[in-house]
Formats: sequence, C-alpha cells, structure tokens
Amino acid sequence: MQVPFMDLKAQHMALKAEIDAAIADCLENSAFIQGRRAAAFEREFAAYLDVARVVGCANGTDALYLALRGLGIGPGDEVVVPANTFIATAEAVTMTGAEVVFCDVDPRTGTMRPQEARERITGRTKALVPVHLYGFPADLTGLRQLADAHGLKLVSDSAQAHGARIGGRDVAKLSDVSCYSFYPGKNLGAIGDAGALATDDETLAETLSMMRNHGRKDKYLHMFEGVNMRLDEIQAAVLRVKLQRLEAWHDIRTALARRYVCELAGVGDLVLPPEDAALRPVYHLFVVETARRDALQTFLTDRGVATGIHYPIPLPLQPAYARLGLSERDFPVAVGKARRILSLPLFPEMRPAQQAYVVERIREFFGSVA
Ligand SMILES: *Cc1c(COP(=O)(O)O)cnc(C)c1O
Repeated sequence: MQVPFMDLKAQHMALKAEIDAAIADCLENSAFIQGRRAAAFEREFAAYLDVARVVGCANGTDALYLALRGLGIGPGDEVVVPANTFIATAEAVTMTGAEVVFCDVDPRTGTMRPQEARERITGRTKALVPVHLYGFPADLTGLRQLADAHGLKLVSDSAQAHGARIGGRDVAKLSDVSCYSFYPGKNLGAIGDAGALATDDETLAETLSMMRNHGRKDKYLHMFEGVNMRLDEIQAAVLRVKLQRLEAWHDIRTALARRYVCELAGVGDLVLPPEDAALRPVYHLFVVETARRDALQTFLTDRGVATGIHYPIPLPLQPAYARLGLSERDFPVAVGKARRILSLPLFPEMRPAQQAYVVERIREFFGSVA
C-alpha cells in the first residue's frame, strides 16, 4: 500500500465541477483583480472567524509583513518569534526593517509561551508573533497579558490554523491581527499563492486594505506608498468554494487524529500531540515524537508511507540567521524537538484502510502487537 502525505488531487476531483465553474466565471467576465469575488471571500471568511474584517492578500508571508507594517513596526524595532516555525514568520519581520528575536518554546506544545517570550523583551520590542504550529493554538491568554504589560502588539501566525479556537473563540478574535496562508497544502488551500489578514480593528483593516493595493483609496488616489500584494479573483473564487467545506474537513481531520491517538497511545516511546478540552486544534499536521525518529521515518518510507519533519533545523540555527550568532544552548526545547518530531499522514481524503496501515507499520516498528 502507498500512503501519501496529502492528496490534493483527490480534494480537487471531489470539487471539480464547482471549481471549474468558479474559474470559468472569472475568465468569462474578465474578472481578475480587486473584484466582487475577493470582496465576497473577505466577508465570508470574516464571518467564519467571527471578526469584523478580513483583508485578502497575495500569500501568508505578505500577510505577516502587512500586519507588522500596518501596526507601525519598522527599522529599530524588535519582534519576538518562536524558534521552531517556517522561515516566513521571521522573514516578514526582516522585510519591515525590524530585527527578529527568537524565543524557545513550550516543551509540550512547541508553541510560544510567556515564560520564554518574556526573557526576550527589551525596550525596543514592539510585537509578539506566536505561531499556532500544526494547527494547535498557542497560549494567547498568557501572551495577551504579557503583551499588554509591555505595550506590545499580538500578531498571530495562523497559516496552519484556520478555525483554531481557544475557549470557543477563534485565535483571530484573541489577536490584534491574525495572518493566514492559503498555500495549496494548508487546511484551506488555493490553486496557487493566496493569503489574508483578520482583525476586529476597522481602522487597521482600512490601512491594510490600502497598503496591499499601492496605498490606494481610489483608483488614482494614493494615500501612501503601499505594495502590490493583492488577492486575485480566481484564487478568491476557488477559496469561496473550499471555505464551505472547511468545517466538514475539520471534523474528518479531528476524527483521524483521535484514531491515531487511540491506536498509538503507549506504543514504544511515542509522544502524541497534546490534548486540551478548552482548545480546538485543527490538525494541520499530526506530529509525534520519538528518540528513534530517523529509523522510524526510514522504516515507513520503505513501506510506502510518506512522512515529513516540520521543521528539521530550528530557525535561529539556519545559515540565514548566522548573523545573530545564536547557538543550540539558547533553544534547548526547539533543538530537542527538531531531533524527535515526525509528521504522519493526515488529510481529509485519507481512507480508513490507509490509516490502519500506517498504525500497523508503526506498531511493527516498535515491536508492539495489536
Ligand atoms: C505556510 C506558512 C507561512 C507562509 O505562507 P505562504 O503563503 O507560503 O507565504 C507562514 N507561516 C507558517 C507557520 C506557515 O506554515
């Protein structure tokens, strides 16, 4: 049996007729940029998140950049980012001219928490950017207290966390701005690059809306120099189709995660993803930890099971950040996790027989009988 890491083709085939019609509608109306589909998607995604405004943009990296710049962050400022995330979180900080400051993470969840973030705050710090890694909500309650105590903005990197909630409220609702990626493999994926920002601050939303479109208030009225980071009509039209499926996909992801948890509990030295009744994670990835990670990955690859490592090198230790002169000792938790984590296949189109096969192979590896 072959078990892929995800199956975007299967997702597309299930929606093909609707997606084809949505794209044809754009082409037949020559609707490409800044039209009613992007505006409709912004309204629908805002309703889904229960926030006042969503501003579409070109991708998740741009969403993070726009959020920080929209909050007035730039040269001379510092922004705290967790050590284990995708590089885009940190790149967006550098793009504004500010300096990225990395903090270590919660050993249980792998996300930013107040203890470690606090140690990195200086007189120049302007914002915290927690990442809801793998779709698991970071401690926004604790981070909000820390941010308020120091006059900092709280910007969520929600690129992996569309619809993640804390105590019934979306992570977007608990952030000053929440940034989304609709990269094709994300829980809500476009057919190319796309992104969005969500906020309850109407004034900020107006600024962001102009900023992503050349600082335009009107076609030939530019209030300031912005950028071209718009969400296009075809991506928006496809996202509108998929948004209607997002909750159903969420339910399937959750059921798959529960099954993994039931069937893998106590197998070998496996550490399974955290569970917390007050939180609604969205299982973008299902990540386990084991001291025998490399051997397990090879064993699964040899038996047709695709896996991933998110992420193998903590960001502060990447060549891209050599200028910061940081070492493994500064990030013991992130470094330990990078050696132990393995992402198992989990996607809405996954068949029960595929999941059973993955579970059986993992048990076989650890020599534990069903
Ligand atoms: C995907 C991702 C991004 C970047 O999104 P793009 O749309 O690819 O620019 C940022 N942060 C995290 C955590 C991501 O997973």
